[in-house]
Amino acid sequence: MNNDNEKFCVKCGKKIPKETKFCQYCGAEQPTSTSTSSDSQQVVHNQESSAKQGNNTTASTLLLVFGWISAVLSLLFIPVVFGIIGIVLGFFERKYHKNAGNILIIVSIVLMIVGIVFGMIMGSQAFEG
Ligand SMILES: [Zn+2]
Repeated sequence: MNNDNEKFCVKCGKKIPKETKFCQYCGAEQPTSTSTSSDSQQVVHNQESSAKQGNNTTASTLLLVFGWISAVLSLLFIPVVFGIIGIVLGFFERKYHKNAGNILIIVSIVLMIVGIVFGMIMGSQAFEG
């Protein structure tokens, strides 16, 4: 069988001689031993996990920023809507940073209640005036 002396390039997938170190079509280095392949797999795994961690940090930061904006807005406008947004974002944030999420949830609830009470006082004063 000819296949014993041939393999497929890891990068471009073209048929190349089994013993060649570099693909003659695209120049990609070919894994020659099991240790080399496991090393490259580990590198790929590390890259994936670090990329995932980076995404999580970005998502966590966005959740915190929007959560705090919503919490503050709930004090000024439509407390029920922005307060609940802050609480929901706080729950999502707990997946990444439990304490930061808990603080955001508590602050959102407090500011929402303050915003509702403040709105009711303003409303009753408007009726009296
Ligand atoms: Zn190739």
